[in-house]
Amino acid sequence: MIRPHVLVAGAGIAGPSLAWWLSRRGWRVTVVERARALRTGGQAVDFRGPVHRAVLERMGLWEAIHERRTRLGTQAFVDATGRTVAELPALMMSGDVELQRGDLCQLLFERTRDQVEYRFGDSPTDLHETSEGVEVGFEHHASQRFDLVVGADGLRSNVRSRVFGDDDGRLKHHGFRVVGCTLPNVLGLRQRGVIYSEPGRGVCVTSARADDEARALFVFTGAPLGPQERSPDVAREAVSAAFTGAGWRTAQLVEALRGAEDLYFDAISSVRLPRYSHGRVVLLGDAAWGGTLGGQGTPMAMVGAYVLAGELLANPGAHAQAFARFESRLRPYATKCQGGASHVGGFFAPRTRAGLFLRNHLYGLLTTKPLERAFEKLVTHAATGFVLPDYT
Ligand SMILES: Cc1cc2nc3c(=O)[nH]c(=O)nc-3n(C[C@H](O)[C@H](O)[C@H](O)COP(=O)(O)OP(=O)(O)OC[C@H]3O[C@@H](n4cnc5c(N)ncnc54)[C@H](O)[C@@H]3O)c2cc1C
Repeated sequence: MIRPHVLVAGAGIAGPSLAWWLSRRGWRVTVVERARALRTGGQAVDFRGPVHRAVLERMGLWEAIHERRTRLGTQAFVDATGRTVAELPALMMSGDVELQRGDLCQLLFERTRDQVEYRFGDSPTDLHETSEGVEVGFEHHASQRFDLVVGADGLRSNVRSRVFGDDDGRLKHHGFRVVGCTLPNVLGLRQRGVIYSEPGRGVCVTSARADDEARALFVFTGAPLGPQERSPDVAREAVSAAFTGAGWRTAQLVEALRGAEDLYFDAISSVRLPRYSHGRVVLLGDAAWGGTLGGQGTPMAMVGAYVLAGELLANPGAHAQAFARFESRLRPYATKCQGGASHVGGFFAPRTRAGLFLRNHLYGLLTTKPLERAFEKLVTHAATGFVLPDYT
């Protein structure tokens, strides 16, 4: 492989991050994205602690991300009367720096588009490995051979199911569903957020960059979702059914949801995979270790891209060795961070009254001044538990 040609499936966060590292070292990278344009939807995503910061700095993104930060302050648990029962510090919910997922996606695209070939509106349909490389068939483009293929195509990775099979068995469902969207700022929030919960259902609303907009996250108990069920209409129906009769200002938010367009709807689940790679194909980001929400998916995608690129560049022509080292370095860290996805549903929507009572009191206590340091550790310790390899 003199100038290896890599196919990356998925122009989310992981794919363009990897493309950035490889292309600047002379590798040819083609990114194929199923959507017809960059998918810039989603809520805010955050970075916390020195590991995340080091990766952003090494990519020269720290300043640009700061310029785009949300500046969100505290978020409060409120009761049915709107009274604050606990105030969560910005570090817990927004890390050291937070920005809209779409802004990050756009930024990564802009920083790579001149060196990387992007193909939108296409998807791999067939992957056939030979001694020379991987023959890839596409929905629209003619078949082509690549030296390596990277599946960075998200939680429901197409590459993963083609290479590892039985995709449903790879997702562990945690018993909750989530709908995220932009709404009119009916609560009049300014740089803050509120969370209202009842047993099995909860809604989190935060201010957005534009004063007249807010970001909402509806979390509620529910079964896993099939691919046909994740449409905006099904999401609106599901929220409407799940929040019938809910208190506080929930009815107003559910009503506002009817006009929302950028709906993100999924079941909260985590990927369980025995290996990240198979032959010349490797998985990255949500495709390998995703958890719908609460698993630090975005910073993990970028740390993962850094490590995968570092190992590939350090082991030229030895992809098996590079993939093995990538997985052995990253898996413990990724698995630990992914653990957040199994608790996040219960955080926003505790299943029982007792659970709700306990949550409010626990966070009320943890956020008091004497426990400030311990709490800070608690909300950053998964993210900081990794020694970033130095590939210079
Ligand atoms: C529209 C959208 C909104 C999101 N909103 C949030 C959010 O609000 N909060 C949150 O925590 N996380 C959100 N996520 C997930 C978050 O982006 C990831 O957890 C994290 O950034 C890891 O990124 P990733 O690149 O691995 O996966 P993703 O960001 O999910 O990117 C995967 C990309 O692969 C593409 N793709 C899928 N199938 C194929 C295929 N067959 N062929 C080619 N391309 C394919 C997708 O269209 C997508 O662009 C969202 C993801 C998307 C796509």
